[in-house]
Amino acid sequence: MKYDILIIGGGVTGAAIARALSRYSLSVTLLEAREDLARGASGANSGIVHAGYDPKPGSLMARYNVKGCAMYPALCHLLDVPYRNTGSLMLAFSKEQMQLLEKLYRRGRQNGVPNLEILGAESLRRKEPAASGEALGALYAPTAGVVSPYEMTIALAENAAENGVTVRLSEAVTAITPRQDGFSVQTTKGELTAAVLINCAGARAGQMSRMAGAEEIPMQLRRGEYTLYDRDLGHLVKHVIFQTPDANGKGVLVTPTAEGNLLLGPSSEVLEEENTASTQPGQDFIYRLGKKSCPQLPAGGAITSFAGIRAVSGSDFVIGPSKIQPRLIQVAGICLPGLTSAPAIAEDVCDMALAYFPQAALKPDWKAERKAAPCVREASWEEREALCAEDPDYGKIVCRCETVTEGQIRRALRSPVPVYTIDGVKRRCRAGMGRCQGSFCTPRVMQIIAEEAGIPLEAVRKAGPGTEIAQGALKAKGGTAW
Ligand SMILES: Cc1cc2nc3c(=O)[nH]c(=O)nc-3n(C[C@H](O)[C@H](O)[C@H](O)COP(=O)(O)OP(=O)(O)OC[C@H]3O[C@@H](n4cnc5c(N)ncnc54)[C@H](O)[C@@H]3O)c2cc1C
Repeated sequence: MKYDILIIGGGVTGAAIARALSRYSLSVTLLEAREDLARGASGANSGIVHAGYDPKPGSLMARYNVKGCAMYPALCHLLDVPYRNTGSLMLAFSKEQMQLLEKLYRRGRQNGVPNLEILGAESLRRKEPAASGEALGALYAPTAGVVSPYEMTIALAENAAENGVTVRLSEAVTAITPRQDGFSVQTTKGELTAAVLINCAGARAGQMSRMAGAEEIPMQLRRGEYTLYDRDLGHLVKHVIFQTPDANGKGVLVTPTAEGNLLLGPSSEVLEEENTASTQPGQDFIYRLGKKSCPQLPAGGAITSFAGIRAVSGSDFVIGPSKIQPRLIQVAGICLPGLTSAPAIAEDVCDMALAYFPQAALKPDWKAERKAAPCVREASWEEREALCAEDPDYGKIVCRCETVTEGQIRRALRSPVPVYTIDGVKRRCRAGMGRCQGSFCTPRVMQIIAEEAGIPLEAVRKAGPGTEIAQGALKAKGGTAW
């Protein structure tokens, strides 16, 4: 198969670039090795839209962070993605840390971050009553916010698909051969050719570059662990609460999520290879530090833990055409603040790719908007009645914790990039995302997936290969285990 542009990696960077390129009359494919989008760093991070006072002035991180942050509210509105402009507070517990806040304030001004403010102890307490009484002050960034990172990635890819991009999941790139007019790319499902290759492979971006005969991209992997609390605790804090950064990163934060839960983390641990397991020492560490920022943080109420891997390459993002293979555009080392930066990075990378296609024209029928499935939990009674009148499946509650109905699950499974897994459904409409973590609704979700995908119940997976849950019917043939 021949494409103009092949994007490797279905994280937020690859998905944002796919959407940007979908405006043009080009054949574009997004290839993702895993069974779903956002299975790398884009699915397991803090979900903070950073204001941009932290990156060094003049760096790519600074430029894309500040621009990306400004793009988020309108983009989330267009794509129907949960986003909240909460603002952020970085707490200082010592005179030295207060000096660091001053430095970050000046840096933020240099980076072009609007409306930064340094608050004293009293103003801090007024703004955020849950912040520790030990804090001497805080750096307040009103433009910061929170977003659902996996929903953002899915929405970008769905919108790209609606506009003609081919999204191929469960297909890993295994070899790349440079040719005069582009690349020949071997995948786990066949061979493709592309005139331009965009490397957004996250932790594997160095490997992709090496395969393509391009430069070495050194990569350090750092695990960050999180604890997610029940929605009941989502109101404990109103802002994203950071501690001052150190050599390991931005420190542990306590934040409401875009969907109303409370999130604590991340830790920072250098790993030799990718490993997203949660550990007791990691969980204890983030709890201890979280409690320092927010003494009311309870010991109970956690509903799950998870971890993400930061793919760090030196002190800045690596973005631009390869010096050795110019038709390979590197978008590597996209660590923090990559989620915030992705929409801005996508605009520039799109321009870099377009340089090879002077004939590419804007599509007159390009759709900027994408609609998510209706959220029954947040709908009024009148809206619920209207939904049920249109489709009675919107009246059948499947996930009781999050009030997710059969109609929403079926709609998620009929989206432009359908993923027939339990986790795929969870990320698209929150069935199984609540307090019981799917203990009650999983069997019904599996049945609906089996019906929509036309596969037997035993073939329904939680996520990738080998994660099947049912082994077969318990009762005699024709009976059902459920
Ligand atoms: C703990 C943690 C906290 C963070 N917090 C924030 C935050 O609050 N705010 C913020 O702005 N940023 C944050 N970040 C950074 C942000 O998550 C990343 O910058 C961003 O998700 C990177 O997206 P990506 O698409 O480049 O990479 P990824 O999301 O890792 O995507 C890369 C994709 O490439 C695929 N892939 C790999 N190899 C192949 C192959 N051979 N063939 C096909 N596909 C392949 C992978 O499966 C993966 O899906 C955080 C990161 C971590 C880990």
